[in-house]
Amino acid sequence: MISGSSSKAPRAEIRTPFDKETQEVLVHRLRHLARQAAERLDLLPLGPLWAFVGYDRAELLAHLERRHLQGCLICGSELDERPVICHIDPLGAAVDGASLQRVMALENFGFGHDSCNRRLGARSLS
Ligand SMILES: [Zn+2]
Repeated sequence: MISGSSSKAPRAEIRTPFDKETQEVLVHRLRHLARQAAERLDLLPLGPLWAFVGYDRAELLAHLERRHLQGCLICGSELDERPVICHIDPLGAAVDGASLQRVMALENFGFGHDSCNRRLGARSLS
């Protein structure tokens, strides 16, 4: 596979319904995003992820499957095989624990094309 534009590790292919591996990747990604934001806000240790975000693994995966079928959150088109998790109100908008919980809420994120998400940058979709 040739990918000239990204220096990051290749992202996982994501198809609906999610297979076991995809589920692990997505849970890991969410955990990583939460940790990163919490670290920036000096909120670590965050404690158990599900207690912090207020939903569980099954709810997260069901939500993401629905969102995946709805297409790109930004342009509305069908997703490609390697979408990114994309927030309506950006994670960067969080300034404390309560606002981080708000931007981590299920209704605040779905999938987007990597290119759309890059174009949007840190701006809000709402
Ligand atoms: Zn898009």
